Amino acid sequence: MSAEIISGTEMRAAILEELASEVEAMKAKYGKVPGLVTILVGENPASVSYVTLKVKTALKLGFHEIQDNQPESITEEALLDLIEQYNQDPNIHGILVQLPLPKHISEEKIIYAIDPDKDVDGFHPVNLGRMVIGGEDGGFLPCTPAGIQEMIVRSGTETSGAEVVVVGRSNIVGKPIAIMMGQKGRGANSTVTMVHTRTRDLAEHCRRADILIVAAGVPGLVKPDWIKPGATVIDVGVNRVGTSSTGKAILSGDVDFAEACKVAGKITPVPGGVGPMTIALLMKNTVRSAWMALENKSSAAYVCR
Ligand code: NAP
Repeated sequence: MSAEIISGTEMRAAILEELASEVEAMKAKYGKVPGLVTILVGENPASVSYVTLKVKTALKLGFHEIQDNQPESITEEALLDLIEQYNQDPNIHGILVQLPLPKHISEEKIIYAIDPDKDVDGFHPVNLGRMVIGGEDGGFLPCTPAGIQEMIVRSGTETSGAEVVVVGRSNIVGKPIAIMMGQKGRGANSTVTMVHTRTRDLAEHCRRADILIVAAGVPGLVKPDWIKPGATVIDVGVNRVGTSSTGKAILSGDVDFAEACKVAGKITPVPGGVGPMTIALLMKNTVRSAWMALENKSSAAYVCR
């Protein structure tokens, strides 16, 4: 048996194409385009490369994009002022602050300062609260879990009634995707188990999964005999396991990919799986935010304030 590969790169291309059409429609109807600001503090190389990719994608989609680079020495107060400035700017629909921030700045304070209606990362507690409550017209979903759910749907995997096992319980991946898959609605209605380092017999839980989502950050954690034959496996892990002769990082997921392919029905690769979807969903949230602003639709987040 050789698993079908779920390509995040191909799905991202399809989503971006859909979004480009929406941007054209928005321009035609309102003479406006989505506005996104990406705030980068300092020069952490990984952050620089993530921000560069986000900016490039936004520009390619025809967004009004501002890349606001700030020095490592910026004070927390000055960063809060900057965020408030973008909160008030009607041409900006999404505010992204690239994490991590320097130690002298509280990430929590910064995230809480972003207007929930412009929190396209979906990290603000108001948006996380809406995600827990569920429903179609809530706030913004966090991008990596939203990307995972979109991949599952687009791969044609049945989620209703499916046993889903999520390995990991972080606030940015494990917890939200576990909640989302258990909600009522499209791409959900699953029976979910969330497992972690204190779980007894991790392998046994994984073996029950029709859909196995792994976000542990441990290369090769999931062995082929932990996978139910025919299951859909979503490998979220991105682990640097070496350096190539050209100096490029060699990446690996949390699943033993080559062996897992012999058992799984469908599987995501690393790289080229969940990673590309995160950025696509970030752009999707920004387009949605712009529509809401232009059509004066108060998001659930707005109602909450
Ligand atoms: P995290 O905050 O470190 O959380 C890891 C979770 O996995 C924790 O809940 C931990 O359990 C659990 N875990 C770790 N080792 C385990 C083990 N041996 N057995 C069972 N559970 C174990 O990580 P994260 O931020 O969620 O990220 C997870 C992985 O996804 C990382 O490789 C990260 O780079 C990747 N990631 C990728 C994307 C993307 O866009 N592709 C986005 C975000 C993250 P405890 O809670 O008990 O410690």
